[in-house]
Order: sequence, then C-alpha cells, then structure tokens
Amino acid sequence: MIEEKKESTEKSLNFIEVIVEEDIKSQKHAGRVHTRFPPEPNGYLHIGHAKSICLNFGLADRYNGKTNLRFDDTNPVTEETEYVESIKNDVRWLGFEWENEFYASDYFDQLYEYAVKLIQKGLAYVDEQTSEQMAAQKGTPTEPGKESPFRNRSVEENLDLFQRMRKGEFPEGSRVLRAKVDMASPNMLLRDPIIYRIKFAHHHRTGDKWCIYPMYDFAHGQSDSIEHITHSICTLEFIHHRPLYDWFIEKLEIFPSQQIEFARLNLTYTVMSKRKLLQLVNEKFVTGWDDPRMPTISGLRRRGYTPASVRAFAEKIGVAKRDNLIDVSLLEFCVREDLNKIATRVMAVLDPLKVIITNYPEGQTEELHAENNPEDAEAGHRTVPFSRELYIEKEDFMENPPKKYFRLFPGGMVRLKHAYIIRCDEVIKDANGEVTELHCTYIPESKSGSDTSGINVKGTLHWVSVPHAVEAEVRLYDRLFTVEDLAAEERDFKELINPDSLQVIEKVYVEPWLKQATTKDHFQFIRKGYFNLDTDSTSEKLIFNRTVTLKDTWTKTQDKK
Ligand code: ATP
Ligand code: MG
Repeated sequence: MIEEKKESTEKSLNFIEVIVEEDIKSQKHAGRVHTRFPPEPNGYLHIGHAKSICLNFGLADRYNGKTNLRFDDTNPVTEETEYVESIKNDVRWLGFEWENEFYASDYFDQLYEYAVKLIQKGLAYVDEQTSEQMAAQKGTPTEPGKESPFRNRSVEENLDLFQRMRKGEFPEGSRVLRAKVDMASPNMLLRDPIIYRIKFAHHHRTGDKWCIYPMYDFAHGQSDSIEHITHSICTLEFIHHRPLYDWFIEKLEIFPSQQIEFARLNLTYTVMSKRKLLQLVNEKFVTGWDDPRMPTISGLRRRGYTPASVRAFAEKIGVAKRDNLIDVSLLEFCVREDLNKIATRVMAVLDPLKVIITNYPEGQTEELHAENNPEDAEAGHRTVPFSRELYIEKEDFMENPPKKYFRLFPGGMVRLKHAYIIRCDEVIKDANGEVTELHCTYIPESKSGSDTSGINVKGTLHWVSVPHAVEAEVRLYDRLFTVEDLAAEERDFKELINPDSLQVIEKVYVEPWLKQATTKDHFQFIRKGYFNLDTDSTSEKLIFNRTVTLKDTWTKTQDKK
C-alpha cells in the first residue's frame, strides 16, 4: 500500500518538478530553488501569465524557495508605469507575494559591463552595416551565413566604438553590437546575434541616461544570473534561444541559471497576446483592459472570477511540453465550482411578469427566512420581503404548456422560493393579447419551513416583491470571438469578433438586500447564474455582471469523450 501511494505521488509530478527535485537531490545550488516571474510591462497580464505565475510561485511554495518579480523593461518604447502597477496588483490578487521586486533596467550598468567583457574577450564586435545587409548575410537554416566585414575588428577599436555608441555619437540604426558566436551554426539565433542597439528613447525608469539598449537575449538570461535564479521557466518559443542563453553564461562566467521551457496556454474563443489585446482596447472593441470579456486577469476579476478559481484552473491544466488549446469551458467550470461554495443565493428577476396574490392582505409585508448558501452552513441567512404584488420571470409562465411543464400555467401550482405555494387563477392581457399580469391565490399553510398543506408541487420559482424591488442593470457576456481556434484562422482576428458578446438588460428587479452588495461579493441569482457587482456600479444604480451561467458545458463534453 505504502509503495503504491509513493508511486502515485511521484507520478503526479510534472516534468519541471521532476527536474527541480533532481536538482535538490544532487544539491545543485545547495538545494536552493529560486524562480522569477518576468513580465514585460507593455500591457496587462492575461490568463496565460496567470499560468506562469502559478507555476513559478507554486514551485517556490512547494520547495521552500523564493520567487522574484522582475520587470523585463529593456525595451524603452512600449513600456509604461501604469502597466507595472497593474501587474503588481494582479500578482497579489492571485494570492502571491514576491521575494524581491526587480527591474532589468536596474542592470543596465552591469549589462554594459558584460558587453565590454565580451568585447575584451574577442567575443563581440560593432557592426556598421545596415540591417538589410546583415539580413542578407544571415543565410538559411541549411546554408551557412557570411561573416560581416567588421567581424574581425580589433578589441581596442570595438571598445572605442561601443563607448561612443553609448555617448550618443552615432545615429539610430547606424551601428549595433553583435556577439561573435558562429555564422555557420544550424541555429540561426547563434549567427552573431545583435546584443545592443542604439535607440534615442526615453525609458520609464532610466529616463534619458541611455541611448543604447540591450536586446532581449542579452538581458534576460543575464538578469537571471544576477539574481541567482536557479530555474528560469519560460514558454516553448524560447527553446532555440537556450543555446545562446547558455553561451552567454559560459563566456561571461556568471551564475549558471537553467532555462526550462513549457507550453504556453492557449484558450478557445480568445486571443492571448498583449499586442492583440492592446488593439482591442485602442480600437474600442472593448471598454478597456479590464473589460469583463477580456482574458486579462483584471477582466476576469471584474467579471467576478475568484483568485482560487484561476489557481485551480492553472493546476488542472498542468504543464505540458507541447503547445495545446484549452477549452475555455474548463475555466468556467473552475469558477462555477468555487462560486458554488461561496456565492450568496439571492433572487433577481431579469424579465418581469407581475403576479397579484389576490387573497394576500393589501399593505402586508412578511420577512421570510432565506438561507444564504445551502453549501455553507456558516453563511447564515437573511430575510426577504414578501407582499401581495410580486415579479416572476416571464419565461416561468406559459398559457398553453406542454405536458410535464412544472412552472406556472392557468390552474397550475408552483412554490415561490422561501415562501408559499401559489395557484394561477386568471391571466390578464393587454389589447395586443400580451400577458401583463397573473392573478393568483396563495396557500397560507404552505409556508416554506412550516408547510402543513400536504400539497406537492414540482416547480419552485424565484421572485421579487414589487414594492420592495430594487432596480438594477445586468450585463450578460458571451464569447468575445466567434471561432474556437483563432490561431488556425487566416482571417484577421478582428474580423472574428462576436458582435453579440455583450447583452445589457437595463432594468431588472433584485431583492432589496442587494443594495449593500460590494464588488468583493459573489452572488448566485437563483436559476440565472453567478453574478457580481460591476465597478461601474453606483449607489444610485446597481450594475451586475454575469460571471458565468449555471449550466456546465465542460463536464458534458468530457462525458462524450
Ligand atoms: P504576450 O505574447 O502576451 O505579450 P509575452 O510572452 O510577451 O506574452 P511577457 O510579459 O514577456 O509576455 O511574459 C511574462 C512571462 O509570462 C514569461 O515568462 C512568459 O513566458 C509567460 N507567458 C506569457 N504568455 C503566456 C501564456 N500564454 N502561457 C503561459 N505563460 C505565458
Ligand atoms: Mg514578451
């Protein structure tokens, strides 16, 4: 038994945990585990980043290690402080706290020194060809490249030119610093990659101090080394960068961080690149980075997703070595599972039909006992006012129902949630034949909790008392895009936007207790889905988002498989 159990926990390790455990066992880095989450502050974080965050911080948690938050801010053109703040906020919201907050731009002096060291070792040179000339010499994966005529400049000349690049003596694009690796390497990235370029751009932290900036490959791995990161986890597209990552470490003789690649998260019905998400924002397809339809962490938060549900999702999808596409209904499944445990059950009528209880005294109100969450005994209860005039959902009444219709119809009976059994006696219509009102009678002995009526009904409806009802707006969301796999599409992603992804119902009725709702709360509008208060809400006007419907499509598709 014990053996069996041991084996099954071992099996549940993902491939990164296997590497980490081996390193701990062999006492590599004295058994230390130090990861980092390295966002470029050029946009808001999305659910793909959430996966990376959970992975990096999760490893540190599991192996008693540490995680740095490092802003990979080496590109001065696209980065903004607003993004830095949003990223910190999102990581904290997910439930993680970093060991150190670092900025790659803090290492600019050190990186410059590293570049000088490479030059001194004869391993870097200043090239003054145009980018077209350099591209023409690159060769193809099957054909070796040609060496630059500037490749064999003397160390002195290179040092002098590099210093003058730094001083701003040369215009943008006129010179670059290249690593002297191997123009014949089958890995194109090793064919003398550019490591520094001239850019007269203002940087969000270093201001105008620099006019040369390191390229990603000459900043990322070095930053890992500077911070003594043991396991540097990145997405699969960097696999071909790893030989270069290792080359710099070896030649610079710096701390040997290890790069490990995993498959990035792709989700159905959405895009997941900051560049594309920024276009959606700038071109006003959505209201902002935190639009509840966005796959951003801020969008999910505003939509009513919980940190626990996002972490559970990251855990469920695991880590893979091959790119794949995850069904967004799995994410919805995770939030539904969490909200089922924590959401307060309330009543809201989205499409009202008035019901008059003709045998209920006019002017009388009863405060009925309502359990807040049957899944959570500690959630307590509240009261819900009941009176002679109520709203029910239009779709809960049918004048000519089919067989086995358990909702309301002429002569039929239903239970009103937390309240009484009623019977529909009379249907009132307007001049167009539209049903405008139902006249019903209630059974006084059938009160929920003390029902002595002996009557059994199959249907239970939600309702709201007319004189107590509070008006609210609800926003219902659908997929932002019309196709499942956007990467497989040839059409531009903006042509695939779902025009009906937002449905606003301007006037719905909710029970008065919801006046005290805050954006931190989660509700189940009974029979209608999980909702939360939107940040657009004011004390005059309540606005709710539907986080997710109650219907689970995930388990169903899994059953079919
Ligand atoms: P994007 O293409 O969306 O701009 P990026 O990779 O350029 O993403 P970074 O800010 O550089 O974004 O990423 C920070 C970290 O998050 C990196 O380690 C990156 O590998 C990881 N990451 C980004 N997107 C995903 C994703 N879809 N799935 C998993 N990890 C991701
Ligand atoms: Mg990036």
